Parts: sequence; C-alpha cells; structure tokens
Amino acid sequence: MPNISFAEQVNHNFDRAASLTNHDPSLLAQLRVCNFVCRFAFPIERDNGKIEVIRAWRAQHSNHKLPTKGGIRFSNDVNEDEVIALASLMSYKCAIVNVPFGGAKGGVKIDRRQYSDAELERITRRFAFELSRKNFIGPGIDVPAPDFGTGAREMSWIADTYQALNNEELNALACVTGKPVALGGIRGRTEATGLGVFYGIREAVNVAEDMKQLGLPLGMEGKSVVIQGFGNVGYHCAKFFTAAGAKVIAIAEWDGSIHNPAGLNIAEVDEHRKETGSIVGSPDSKQLDPSCDALELPCDILVPAALENVITDENVDRIQASIIAEAANGPVTAAASEKLFQRGVMIVPDAFLNAGGVTVSYFEWLKNLSHVRFGRMEKRYEENAFRRVLKLVEGATGTVITEEQLRVAAHGAEEQELVHSGLEETMSTAYHEIRALRLKLGAPKIDLRTASFVDAINKIASCYGDMGIFP
Ligand code: NAD
Repeated sequence: MPNISFAEQVNHNFDRAASLTNHDPSLLAQLRVCNFVCRFAFPIERDNGKIEVIRAWRAQHSNHKLPTKGGIRFSNDVNEDEVIALASLMSYKCAIVNVPFGGAKGGVKIDRRQYSDAELERITRRFAFELSRKNFIGPGIDVPAPDFGTGAREMSWIADTYQALNNEELNALACVTGKPVALGGIRGRTEATGLGVFYGIREAVNVAEDMKQLGLPLGMEGKSVVIQGFGNVGYHCAKFFTAAGAKVIAIAEWDGSIHNPAGLNIAEVDEHRKETGSIVGSPDSKQLDPSCDALELPCDILVPAALENVITDENVDRIQASIIAEAANGPVTAAASEKLFQRGVMIVPDAFLNAGGVTVSYFEWLKNLSHVRFGRMEKRYEENAFRRVLKLVEGATGTVITEEQLRVAAHGAEEQELVHSGLEETMSTAYHEIRALRLKLGAPKIDLRTASFVDAINKIASCYGDMGIFP
C-alpha cells in the first residue's frame, strides 16, 4: 500500500468496513465525508513583546447527532488532514460506545514546550474566542475536550472565555469537558481514557478462546506491558494495568525510555518525572539504549499512548507484541495493521479502545446540563435503605453486624464511583458488541478494527434512516 495520509487511512478502514454492509452508496458517502472544517490564523503577543501568528483548525466530521464532540490538541505536527482524520474517528468512536454525539476535533499548531504558561493561556483563550465567533463551540453545537498537549487547565480557560462571551447562557459550562471539578468538571474524567483502555483490554484478555489463539494465559495477572507516552493516557494505563497484576516492563518518552523486566514502579516513575521533568533516571529502572526502540521489545501488550503513525511499514516486522492496545489515535498505519493481522497479532482498535475519555465527557456534559452532581440525590437514601435491609438480616439471622461492616456494606455511591461504573459498563458492553459482530462477519478473516467500523457505520446509518433522509 502506498504511503497515504492519516485521513486517507481512516477512510481506507471505513471503505473496507462499508463493503461489508448493504447501505446505499450515497448514504455511505455522507457518513464518510467531513462536514465542516474551519481554519484559523490569529496573532498572539509573546512574552518578549513580539507578535506571532498561530495556526489552528476545528473539524466537525458528522452532525448526525449534536453537539459534535472531540478534543483539542496542541502539537507542532497538527495539520488539516490530521484534524479531519481525528474528527472522523470521533464520529465512529461515539457510535461504537453509544455516546450520542457527532465527531469533531481541534488542533493548534504549537510545540507547547516553547511557550510560557501566560502565552499558552493567551493562545487558548484567543482560540476559544475565535471558535465562539465562528459558532464552532457551544453546549448544543460543538464541545471540545482535552487531547495531546492539553488538559484541565486549558479546558478551564476555554470555559471561562466562552462564559464571558455568553453570559446569559445558563448551560455555558457545558461548552467544553475535561474541566477542573471546581469549574463544572466531573470526578473521574482525568483518568477516564486510561481507565477505559484498561477495561477494554481486560475484556479482551478474559476471553479464553482468543487468548488460546494468541498462546497467552487468561487474564491480566503477570502480562508484560510496554507503554509509549507517559502523559495523561499512558500514565493512567500504567497505573491501572499494574494494579490489576500486569507488569509494565518499559515506558518510552520523547527524551528517552526506561525499563525493568520485573515491572516498573509507576508511582515512583511519576514522582521522578514530576521532580525532574523526565522519566529517565527513575528509581529501579534502567535507561534503554537509544539504539533500541521500546516499541520493539518482546511483550504481551504494547500500548502506544502518544501520537499517530508510530507503527509503520518501516518497523512493523520488528514488533514482537501479541496484543496492540491502541490508546493513542491512529498509532498503527493501515499497511502495518494489515501485516500484523496476517501475523496473528490482536489489535484492539483506537475507535473503541480510547473511547473512555468521550464517554466520561458525556457524563460531564450531562452533569453540566442538569446542574447537579451525580449521586447527590440518591446517595444518602441508598445508604439508609441498605442499612435497613442489613438490620433486618441481623434481626432474622441473629448475626451481629458491626458499625464498621454496616458502613462498608451500606456505602452509597459517590460521583467518581458512579462514573467508573458507567465507564466499565460502556467499555465492556462495546467490546463484546464488536467481538460478536466480528464473529458474525466471518472471523478470523475480519479484524476487530473492521468490525468496529461496521458497527459504527450501521449505527450512524440507522440515525439517518430514522430521519428519513436516506433509504
Ligand atoms: P498528553 O499530552 O497528556 O501525553 C502525551 C505524552 O506522549 C507526553 O508525555 C509526551 O511527552 C509523550 N510523547 C510525545 N512524543 C513522544 C514520542 N515521540 N515518544 C514517546 N512519547 C512521546 O496526551 P494524552 O492526552 O495522553 O494523549 C495521548 C494520545 O491519546 C493522543 O493520541 C490522543 O489523541 C489520545 N487520546 C487522548 C484522550 C484524552 O482524554 N486525553 C482521549 C482519547 C484519545
């Protein structure tokens, strides 16, 4: 396959899946095309007084459901093709995990390390202003979220700018998700994508038939894991995989990779990175020789959690993992994906696997629209009801239940627990939906990526069908 762009790769995956469906070609053309792209160029003042022109994009791929939803990334590699590709993936992702949004994505072409906090704030606020001016942001229009290079802080600047411009808008805070909790964010959003990756892979490694085919033991316990990127997604993946008994044997960052065959201590790596700015030199770790690429280490699960196109025709033959967990968007090119599939490697695709972020963003958006924290109404009521039941059991059986036992057993769910539970349910259900569809479509000839795209196409097509727009 010739070298094709990221958007062409997404469309290649779409076309392969579309050929397995019976939908009208004109409907498929509508599902495939990106509906709107807005290109921005705006000036900001650097701290040294110089003016710099910043380039940015926002793409809305599909408006079959509103609002559209997707992150904003800050990266020097951002371009229009990438933003369109990522917006398309968002449409399919939302459909796969049954989140009622269309897909969008934004990108600002900067290397964030080259800007001070004050400059980043000016860039973010100006981009939010431009998005608002073009009607490309709003609780019912288009709702951004964090992505590569952005986090809760940037989302709070966007929310604040939008709110200042729309001061009569009651639901203004629902214009963006991934905000700090004090500003309308939701507990559980920060870790959502990494936790979703964990839930998705946990489902995969618990299917006996599939693990037998890969020659791997069942379950997470003892599995060796290599992670590329120790940012929001990579760090939380490392944390949850380790807590479930897997061993993170190597982590790759832009400035160096570390490894320990017995498993890295994730809390210590995080602490070291906070103190020094780098994972290199973390306690109980060795730096990997720069001539050795962590992606190519033998392992059970490889988690690319940084950027797209990191497993390509060039290095695919050296990849030794049995399972590739696409935590990042588009980390494996279409050509490499095909080769890995032929070799029997299981790829759990991005369009499903990293949907935890948008799932919990959906919960945050619902919270903002309802103006009430999840669990506020029912927590105490549930606790009292559980206590009454346990007291009845105590009376009927004569077993004494201590106050401590009562406190634990009758605990009513907090917001974060509800969010984790909703995320677990979403990822688990979606995994088994796409796995079942893969079997129906004729596994082993069909991979999970194709099955997940067929799933998305069917669901979005049924929306258009219900609108009576297409046959
Ligand atoms: P982030 O900025 O928090 O982290 C990215 C990490 O990758 C950083 O630590 C960075 O230093 C590292 N990195 C950059 N270049 C690298 C290289 N060449 N080799 C190794 N590491 C490198 O970003 P994030 O939010 O964790 O996003 C990572 C990926 O996950 C992106 O593809 C993003 O689109 C995807 N994603 C993120 C979310 C989310 O909720 N944040 C949701 C869905 C998908």
